[in-house]
Amino acid sequence: MNSHLSGQCACGTVRYRCSSAPLAMLNCHCRDCQLSSGAPFASGVIVSSADLEVDGVPSNYSVRAGSGQQATRSFCAGCGTPLFTRSEANPQFTSIRFPTLVDASGFAPMLDIWTSSAQPWVCLDDKLPHFDQSPQQPD
Ligand SMILES: [Zn+2]
Ligand SMILES: [Zn+2]
Repeated sequence: MNSHLSGQCACGTVRYRCSSAPLAMLNCHCRDCQLSSGAPFASGVIVSSADLEVDGVPSNYSVRAGSGQQATRSFCAGCGTPLFTRSEANPQFTSIRFPTLVDASGFAPMLDIWTSSAQPWVCLDDKLPHFDQSPQQPD
């Protein structure tokens, strides 16, 4: 994938650019991702927060995620597009919602997480590792 990721919300009020390559790409099936995406799961591109430059001010909503950690979701107040998620446990990483990438052609999920709450009709790729919950141990 292009090492200079860029993207924006549907209306273009919030734009971003990341100067480093993604660290991981994954599908999250947790209830919170289902609710915030309006879809059976959310696909995210994990990047280094320090390399992410955001233009425009997204709105934030914080929830206690399934892991027990506080997760803050950023979205555009104008068009409602979900953009970023950051966990208080790992603020050095930001998950970018993949549909917001200008060029998402390089997106390929590497793992599925929170499959314990995956919808029963979602077809999981057997070639990818699946985690019932988050692969990161809560500390
Ligand atoms: Zn917008
Ligand atoms: Zn999730």
